Amino acid sequence: MKSYSGFSLFAQSFLAHRRWPRAWRDPEPKKHYDVVIIGAGGHGLATAYYLSRYQGVKNVAVLEKDYLGGGNTGRNTQVSRSNYFYPQSGAFYEHSLRLFENLAQEINFNVMFSQRGILAVCNSRHELELYRRWANAIRMNGIDSEMLSRDDIKKLAPYINLDCRFPICGGFIQNRGGISRHDAVSWGYARQASAAGVDIVQQCEVTGMETTDSRVTAVQTSRGTITADRFALCVAGNSSHLAAMAGLRLPITSICLQAMVTEPVRPIFDTVMMSARIHVYVSQSDRGELIIGGGADLYNSYAQRGSLNTHHDNFSALLELLPVFSRLRLMRHWAGVCDMAYDVSPIVGKTAVENLYISTGWGTGGYKAIPAGGDTLAYTIANDQPHDLLKPFQLDRFDTGRLVDEGAASGVAH
Ligand SMILES: Cc1cc2nc3c(=O)[nH]c(=O)nc-3n(C[C@H](O)[C@H](O)[C@H](O)COP(=O)(O)OP(=O)(O)OC[C@H]3O[C@@H](n4cnc5c(N)ncnc54)[C@H](O)[C@@H]3O)c2cc1C
Repeated sequence: MKSYSGFSLFAQSFLAHRRWPRAWRDPEPKKHYDVVIIGAGGHGLATAYYLSRYQGVKNVAVLEKDYLGGGNTGRNTQVSRSNYFYPQSGAFYEHSLRLFENLAQEINFNVMFSQRGILAVCNSRHELELYRRWANAIRMNGIDSEMLSRDDIKKLAPYINLDCRFPICGGFIQNRGGISRHDAVSWGYARQASAAGVDIVQQCEVTGMETTDSRVTAVQTSRGTITADRFALCVAGNSSHLAAMAGLRLPITSICLQAMVTEPVRPIFDTVMMSARIHVYVSQSDRGELIIGGGADLYNSYAQRGSLNTHHDNFSALLELLPVFSRLRLMRHWAGVCDMAYDVSPIVGKTAVENLYISTGWGTGGYKAIPAGGDTLAYTIANDQPHDLLKPFQLDRFDTGRLVDEGAASGVAH
C-alpha cells in the first residue's frame, strides 16, 4: 500500500492523478473466516482494523449489504466530544477523542479533524445552573470544560442573537471537541484494514443465521453461506432485526434522526454550537456548508428519509439564534436510522450467544465513538472478555439495573 503524503500527491500530479492505486480490494467472499463482522459502518471497519493491526487476527471479513460507510457513518453531523456526565462514559469517550486527535497519522488519511470547540448555550437561569453542574462533573472526570458568560459567547460567535425568544444567559464549552470528515474516517479504516488482509465484501446482505447449541455457525448472505469462529454485529439501526436471527432480543428501538446542509458560503462560523432549549445545533464544514441538526423523530421507523416538518423546525430554530443565515438555501436533507438503548448508552461486548459479539446502542452519538468502539470491541473479540472501558456497557446491565443514564448528554434532546 502506497503511503498518502505531500510527496505522493506532488508525484501523482505529474500523472494527472490517474495512477492512484485502489484504496481497498474488492474480494470474493471466502467460505470461512476467523471473524465475520456484519456492517461496514465506522464501527465495523474500525473493529476490523484494530483486530488485524493490534490483535493479530488477520482472517477477517466485513460484510456490507450496500456500500461501505453509507449507513449512519456517512449521514451524521460529524461532532466529536467527550463531555459526558458519568465517569464511565467520560473515560470511554475521552479515549475516543484522544484516538481522534491522532487518527489522521494512525490511518494515514486526512480525516480533517478540527478542534473548534463544542459550545452549549443556556436559554434560562435554571438551565445555566444545570449546565454548571454538568461542566463541573466533566472536570471531575479529568476532561476540559469551561463556563462562559454572554460576552464570551458573543466573542466566539459574533453573529449570534443573544436576545432571541429565550435570551441566552451563558453556556459552556469543551474546547477540544470538534468535527471531522465522516467519509474519510470510514475510507481510512477500510483502506488500512484491506491492506492488512481484511476482506471487505460490499453488496453482501446477511439474510439469516445458522445456530446450534447457542453458537452461530454460519451466516446466510446474498453471496452464499459463510462460516466463522466468531461473529460481530455492527449494524446500528438494524441491530434488533439481525440479533433476532440469532434468537436474541435487544433493548433497542430504532428511530430516525435527520440532518441537513445549506449551500456553501465563506468561513463565517468557526465553532459547533448547540441550544437544547431552542433545539438545534450547527457547525460549518470545511466546504463552507452549514451542517444543521435537531431532535430525533418522535416515532419508531426504519424509513431512512427526511421530512418537511423537521426541516422546518430545525431551520426556524437556527434562524432564532442566527438570523444572519436567513437568505441561505438548503441543499440536502436526509435521515439515518439510530439504535437507541433505554439509557441512551451503548451496548458493546459479548452476548448470550457464545460466539456472537455486538456493538449497538450508539443512538445519535456513535460517530465520536468509532475509534474507541473499534479498539475496545477488537480487544473483546480477540480475548473473549470485555475491555475494561466496556465493562459498564454490557448487555446484562438491563438485568442488573446498573444503567448509565446519559439521556441528557446529547447536545439537544432526542
Ligand atoms: C443525522 C445524524 C446525525 C448524527 N450526528 C452525530 C454526531 O454529530 N456525532 C456523533 O457522535 N454521532 C452522530 N450520529 C450517530 C452516528 O452516526 C452513529 O451512531 C454511528 O455512525 C453508528 O455507526 P455504525 O458503524 O454502528 O453504524 P452504520 O454506519 O449505520 O453502519 C451499519 C452498517 O450495517 C449495514 N447493514 C445493516 N444491515 C445489514 C445486513 N443485514 N447485512 C449486511 N450489512 C448490513 C448498513 O448498510 C450499514 O452500512 C448521527 C446520526 C445521524 C443519523
